[in-house]
Amino acid sequence: MAAPIPREWTGLQQFPAATQTKLHELLGKLKEENVSTLTILVMGKGGVGKSSTVNSIVGERVATVSAFQSEGLRPTMCSRTRAGFTLNIIDTPGLIEGGYINEQAVEIIKRFLLGKTVDVLLYVDRLDAYRMDTLDEQVIRAITNSFGKDIWRRALVVLTHAQLSPPDGIDYNEFFTRRSEALLRYIRSGAGINKREYGDFQLPIALVENSGRCKTNEHGEKILPDGTPWVPNLMKEITVVISNGSEPIHVDQKLIDGPNPNNRWKMFIPLILAVEYFLVVKGIRRAIHADIANGKVDDWEQRYRDLVGSRDPVEQKGSRNRKA
Ligand code: GDP
Ligand code: MG
Repeated sequence: MAAPIPREWTGLQQFPAATQTKLHELLGKLKEENVSTLTILVMGKGGVGKSSTVNSIVGERVATVSAFQSEGLRPTMCSRTRAGFTLNIIDTPGLIEGGYINEQAVEIIKRFLLGKTVDVLLYVDRLDAYRMDTLDEQVIRAITNSFGKDIWRRALVVLTHAQLSPPDGIDYNEFFTRRSEALLRYIRSGAGINKREYGDFQLPIALVENSGRCKTNEHGEKILPDGTPWVPNLMKEITVVISNGSEPIHVDQKLIDGPNPNNRWKMFIPLILAVEYFLVVKGIRRAIHADIANGKVDDWEQRYRDLVGSRDPVEQKGSRNRKA
């Protein structure tokens, strides 16, 4: 099936002039680095603001925003071109259903991405979430199992609802730091990243406020509480990720099939059985033989002998047989 011809990125003109200037600068830089296509994959739990963030980046309503998580299972890709540059942005449904990963949704996303190259993963969550739980870890694991852990080298964490007022007694920066650290810990653990492997593995984080009530600066740009216009900042962080020296993630059949943690250990099964045989079975046999040689009897056997008043029940049975 041929890819549809991408539409002109008219949404770019919806941004305030100051934002447009910065975005054109970034596109110019990408062109200098011979980057003519940028494919962004957006993932995360349901209701965290993935679709809203897609719309904010494109500057058009291309993804369905829903307050009630009725997203369906299919990912959607929006493509826009501007002066020889193509932006592809893939919105995905939340992966959790009834407290568990919806494997069907994961499979549909994998099949959708087959043959595509992901330049950046936007891992979206809310800034105003006060605790992490196993659902977060499940989503992170599902992403890692689907696309390999190298996808995290191409990841940018996006925290929505950035215009929050932290609970009393905590200032904004402290809240942001605590929230980011908790999230990074979960990502490191869910993705199986250890210190030795990734050195000081740092994931970049960008703040986003999709609300129509987001504060603006004198140029009309939507700003974070510290005054940073967040749309150009988000795009800048995306360009930093793609030039961090890591490879984009090409989704082919091999990547999708493995490394499946269930299959990886299968080849060790004969070895485990052999070790088990030698250590356990042989060990028990040796102990039994040693006991027989020493004439040692088990507790139950001794009790039985006391009961029937014989020294050896087997001997007694044997002698009776001989008599017969
Ligand atoms: P998705 O399920 O992850 O795609 O989330 P949606 O983009 O559909 O957003 C879920 C709800 O959160 C919608 O009601 C959005 O209007 C709202 N929302 C998304 N992002 C933000 C944000 O940054 N700030 C605020 N205040 N609301 C947001
Ligand atoms: Mg959505």
